[in-house]
Amino acid sequence: MAQLTPMMQQYMKIKEECPDALLMYRLGDFYEFFFEDAKIAAKELDLVLTGRDCGLEERAPMCGVPFHAADSYINKLISKNYKVAICEQLEDPATAKGMVKRGIIRIVTPGTVTDSAMLEDKENNYILSIAFSDQLGLAYCDVSTGAFFVYQADSSDAALLNELNRVKPREVLIPDGKRADFEQFLNDHHIKDLFYNSYFDWAFETQSAYRALTEHFHAENLRGYGCEQMTAAQQAGGALITYLHDTQKNSLLHINTIRVVDQSRNMMLDATAIRNLELTQTIRDGEKRGSLLWLLDKTKTSLGARMLKQYIENPLNDLKAINNRLEAVLELKEDLSLVEEIKTALKGVYDLERIITKISYASLNARDCLSLKMSLAGLPRLKELLSTAHASLLLKLARQIDPLDDIYALIEAAICEDAGLSIRDGGIIKTGYNCEIDQLRDTAQNGKNWLAELEAKEKEATGIPKLKIGYNKVFGYYIEVTNSYADQIPYRYIRKQTLVNCERFITEELKSMEDSILNAEERQCAKEYAVFGEIRLTLEGAISRIQKSAVAIAAIDVLQSFAAVAYEYNYVMPDMTTDGKILIQDGRHPVVEKMSRQASFVPNDVKLDLQKNNMLLITGPNMAGKSTYMRQVGLIVLMAHIGSFVPAQAASICLVDRIFTRVGASDDLASGQSTFMVEMNELANILNHATQNSLIILDEIGRGTSTIDGLSIAWATVEYIISRIGAKTMFATHYHELIELEQLFAQIKNYSIAAREFGNEIVFLHKIVPHGTDKSFGVEVAKLAGLPEELVVHARQLLQRFQAQELDLPKDGNEDEQKERTPANENTVIRKLRRIDVNTLTPLEALNLIGELQREIDDEPSN
Ligand code: ATP
Repeated sequence: MAQLTPMMQQYMKIKEECPDALLMYRLGDFYEFFFEDAKIAAKELDLVLTGRDCGLEERAPMCGVPFHAADSYINKLISKNYKVAICEQLEDPATAKGMVKRGIIRIVTPGTVTDSAMLEDKENNYILSIAFSDQLGLAYCDVSTGAFFVYQADSSDAALLNELNRVKPREVLIPDGKRADFEQFLNDHHIKDLFYNSYFDWAFETQSAYRALTEHFHAENLRGYGCEQMTAAQQAGGALITYLHDTQKNSLLHINTIRVVDQSRNMMLDATAIRNLELTQTIRDGEKRGSLLWLLDKTKTSLGARMLKQYIENPLNDLKAINNRLEAVLELKEDLSLVEEIKTALKGVYDLERIITKISYASLNARDCLSLKMSLAGLPRLKELLSTAHASLLLKLARQIDPLDDIYALIEAAICEDAGLSIRDGGIIKTGYNCEIDQLRDTAQNGKNWLAELEAKEKEATGIPKLKIGYNKVFGYYIEVTNSYADQIPYRYIRKQTLVNCERFITEELKSMEDSILNAEERQCAKEYAVFGEIRLTLEGAISRIQKSAVAIAAIDVLQSFAAVAYEYNYVMPDMTTDGKILIQDGRHPVVEKMSRQASFVPNDVKLDLQKNNMLLITGPNMAGKSTYMRQVGLIVLMAHIGSFVPAQAASICLVDRIFTRVGASDDLASGQSTFMVEMNELANILNHATQNSLIILDEIGRGTSTIDGLSIAWATVEYIISRIGAKTMFATHYHELIELEQLFAQIKNYSIAAREFGNEIVFLHKIVPHGTDKSFGVEVAKLAGLPEELVVHARQLLQRFQAQELDLPKDGNEDEQKERTPANENTVIRKLRRIDVNTLTPLEALNLIGELQREIDDEPSN
């Protein structure tokens, strides 16, 4: 029976180690895919599918990519959500005895890429591990920066959904045993494009997970990291670190600390709030431009840009920490020359976190070292600048910065400024750094001079002016003479190669020198490579020091960005309190203000508290600015919680545990949910989770169903929030009936947004004023939007009629019939009743009158 060739047997054995990954098997200068993997790769990478004898009757399908271009192909596969296992030759084929030993050196997955071509500078690339215990255990890591977080959440679908939306992982890891449940969860919630893996159950078990964490972080226990008691978080974290070792086949030195996400120190923001407040991207087109992140981003480094995003998505809920940031921003805002100097020091800072990853992965090259050096150049100055500051946070960051003088000096002394990309071809270590390299370089250089001299000497001796000395890998050094001088070639020349126009020769003298020249060059390259390896090891030893400085730099960058924004747009420092009040004077919507090309933004006040101003019911015409007003309050509160100044004249903001938003109608057709269902889901989430310390923003409730149903839901929602939750709430509505609620509940205040009517024209004043309004001007706004004039006129007529009937809507469109149905005499009866002077009426007169009025109504035509 046919049997696989030894090489194919080796392939099969290696493939067994990574059945769910596409295996790239190194064969000479190519990485080859075989069998099913080849069919997939050929299709996805647009490669020609060929075949190779494998010992069986049928040839094995095969396709391949050149090894030097492998990265771009790997990236392409990763972007299509494949896992790729890279199998290398582990020994030199030239010296290997028998089959060359091969093994997987790394499995690249979407959540573990480190190649900068695959990564966004300003965004993290997270892999999230989930353990399903009494509580939900969560751990996520950005392998490209080394950030590693653990925490726990409620064990519920809603919490899981929230975390997936918050972390936005590129890859998810779950235990094998939970695969079916997780798939069901994804199905139930119509999540389609999430890349997830299941991994050994044992890796998630408490003991093995704990061991994996303590071993990786070289700790006796996890007390120092503050997660000793968090079993579920440990399960997720331990499994994640095991998976990372398993796939990265690397010691992962840059992942060197565990950060516990402390939910109690943070304001909770769910995905709906992040989306509705347009914190990191706009709702309409998903672009960063137009979001709060876009507005606040005046960072100078990728480190700072990523941290700013983290700040925005994880606002603080800790008075002291917020005040520390605000105090630092204040100092920077008031000392612009300090900010300018900080910016200059930050200018040369490259993506230190990702350079550290390269050190850890041993994929660092000399140019990366130069980037590191450039990045470190400004550190002493930065430290010095911040050390003279007053704000405690700036001083703390100054202390945190390690100027890394030794590392700077090392790179400065060792690495050539014009080093190439390859670390194997020499030219990377500076002269003067290592004697042996200098000597070898001299020898190689002298050899080259000797060659030049030889060339001149031979030209003269032979009288051949075009004689030249060249080199190729096959023949080594040679003397080349064009055919026109063939008769001048001396006997001592030994013919080596004949080409069309010329002949190539060697001489005894040339041959004997060749060895020493080539040897010196080769040995010089090898020595440079070895010395570079030593330098890399030194850098490896400094990883955590570099990391510490990188975190400080990122924080300083965010603070200077806040200061620059505050200065440019005239923001004020909010007064943070715990008194339960949100008081904003002349607040503005930061993004609308910046984007608005119209005249100027109309500022508005807000007063929310736990008593009489607990709920603001906001009515007003369409397009008046209700949504803008409410979102601006949400954004101001959020900005204050991340330590930013706010767009207002003055603001006193109490700590808020969560901001909830329910804004506008959004169909989620992709996930199979109707507008109304989405709306009710979001409302349910708010009502189930809001507390007295939350801020709720409701922009229309119940608009996705019939008027009566919607009004009932909206009314009941208001009562529920007032009596059961007590959260500060802003509720914009077109149900004018809700205005009456102000009479029933002391906590409610009606407001409206002013607009003026001039005939049929309407002018929006965008000013919030006390008292509700029952005017929507919907028809006028529709006219502004460009509806046909005829339609607008008809709508106006219908509106007048509906208003007269107070929502007693016609059952069909036949107007005459409707008129007949109208109790025309009723108005006469009412008028008569009004005119009666009850004080002078005798009982008999009253009886007669009732009889008369009854007869009048009875005379109504019946239908
Ligand atoms: P609808 O009820 O139709 O949803 P709305 O009352 O919520 O409308 P917004 O969407 O908030 O109205 O605002 C409409 C437009 O008015 C905004 O796009 C903005 O350009 C402008 N606007 C809102 N508030 C202000 C303001 N305070 N100053 C200047 N322009 C404003």
